[in-house]
Amino acid sequence: MRRSSVLLALLALLPLAGAPAQPARPPNQRPPLAEPLPPIASYQIDVSYDRGAQQLRGRERVTFRNASNRPISELGWHLYLNAFRDEDTVFNRESGAQLRGDRFDPAHAGWIEIDGLRLHEGADLLPGTRISETVMTTTLPIALAPGATITLGVDFHAQLPRVYARSGYYEDFVLAGQWFPKLAVHDDAGWHNFDYHGWSEFFADFGDYDVAITLPAGDVTGASGRPAGPPVDNGDGSQTVRYTARNVIDFVWTASPRFAQATRAAGDVELVLLYQPEHAEQVERYFAIAAAALEHFGRRWGPYPYDRLTIVDPPAGASGAAGMEYPMFVTGGTPGLPMQDVPQVYRVLEAVVAHEVGHQWFGMTAASNEAAEPWLDEGFTEYITDDLLAQRYGRDRSMLDLGPLQIGAYDERRLMFLADPAQPIAGAAWELADYPVSAYAKPLLALRTLEGLLGAETFDRVLATYYGRYRFRHPTAGDFRAVAEEVSGRDLGFFFEQVVAGSELVDYAVTAIGPHEVTVARLGDVTLPVTVEVRFADGASLRQSWNGAGAEQRFRYPDREVVAAAVSPDGELALDANRANDSLAIATVEPAWKALLRWLFWMQNLVITLGVPG
Ligand SMILES: [Zn+2]
Repeated sequence: MRRSSVLLALLALLPLAGAPAQPARPPNQRPPLAEPLPPIASYQIDVSYDRGAQQLRGRERVTFRNASNRPISELGWHLYLNAFRDEDTVFNRESGAQLRGDRFDPAHAGWIEIDGLRLHEGADLLPGTRISETVMTTTLPIALAPGATITLGVDFHAQLPRVYARSGYYEDFVLAGQWFPKLAVHDDAGWHNFDYHGWSEFFADFGDYDVAITLPAGDVTGASGRPAGPPVDNGDGSQTVRYTARNVIDFVWTASPRFAQATRAAGDVELVLLYQPEHAEQVERYFAIAAAALEHFGRRWGPYPYDRLTIVDPPAGASGAAGMEYPMFVTGGTPGLPMQDVPQVYRVLEAVVAHEVGHQWFGMTAASNEAAEPWLDEGFTEYITDDLLAQRYGRDRSMLDLGPLQIGAYDERRLMFLADPAQPIAGAAWELADYPVSAYAKPLLALRTLEGLLGAETFDRVLATYYGRYRFRHPTAGDFRAVAEEVSGRDLGFFFEQVVAGSELVDYAVTAIGPHEVTVARLGDVTLPVTVEVRFADGASLRQSWNGAGAEQRFRYPDREVVAAAVSPDGELALDANRANDSLAIATVEPAWKALLRWLFWMQNLVITLGVPG
């Protein structure tokens, strides 16, 4: 609510000529790509799904390798379905029992219970197991030495909630996310075992999955990985489908008798779309953007490392399942809008699918800790998504392209940032006062600002090196900074300390132009190098650099006549909190009706919740 009122005031400050120009990008020279490590947490699961009760009953065999340098005396687990047990869970208290406009329905709650937990050798571990809502801890009879492997058996049963926050059922559609007892991540610092919080999503280790699901015959299914064979008809009205996935951090599955299925090839990758029959006219849109995303991200940052990608188009009543990423699996949809009414000129479907496919790079393979450092996952995905949408549609019309009325996804994110710009990027998900700004909008603008500081070519090498080095691993912000400094050869402390850790504003302005001089000023507390462009009466222009450190800088041109000046002339200082003061050049003024329509569009777009996909 606070955001909307600030927004109205800020709308008046928006310059009408919006987004930065796109620099031409030379192809990356591909940095080395890290190979997968031996599996750390692997799961073999047999689960049966009772649609009448919306319950799961499962048995899993977990193989865990201690990849750290310290012995492990207890195991940390996530039981994340317990986040939906009642309105008083950590998740529901922090989120206000709603997510992206969906409300938690206490009459259709979700939970998971452990029925058995033992070592493969037979020792019963249940007596030494403690559960605190979404977190479980199991004491081991003997410490697990560094490098050693343990195998466990777990029996569980679970209640799926009415679909909410990326998991559950709606009528005969089911999206089973975070549905099984799953180990947390353990490293040299110990367990990273945290509650399922209102904003953070998931953090888990890499491993192989072999999952057999018994469910009603006639259901069309999809999952992380690929089918290990055709469905087996059990002759009792049920079927068993089996999926396998290698080197993934999670496993999700979906089923519905109403799904229609289509497949396409995108290079070496098999695309599978499970869609609602009434959305048949959107099928080619889904495939086009998914294929474009795989190609674009693969070429720029490193190839998609799997051979299959399943895309789910959820039913209109299941918006809680829309816009989410899992390994080798994304959900699309148009949260907040009835799908069949979304025209092609409004690219919300493309924006959501591109973002979720982008997570296959940042989140699913460069698998940073989304709870501790959410911007590495959401913010980097925002950056590469904007990079794709801008290249494909033009940055200034990537969201809406309706004749003379054009809106860019980038402008929407900048608007989100401007509504609450005094926020840090760094911080755990539950510590951030404005998660959408800190995890999505400000990181996008910060990475664009860093791109402006380093130059597009160097920044491309930074990001491709970071991804290539840390895929199938768990990179941190420190790792990203080290790569950025290594590749650029510069100390970037000024950027990470002020922009990532800090919440001060960036604001540079042209404060005066005289016939023979230009005055630029630093109005914010953040100090960054600035480019100043000066135009002269003879039509020539000049670009000058200012270190941006002082309060003010004057440039004098005794022999030339100045007619205009601008700081950040290409919009490269993306974090600049007030672009209206960036230039004293005479600007072309948009007709009032066009500006009004643009503002109305922004307002309605912020009201619906597509602004924050998963
Ligand atoms: Zn996301």
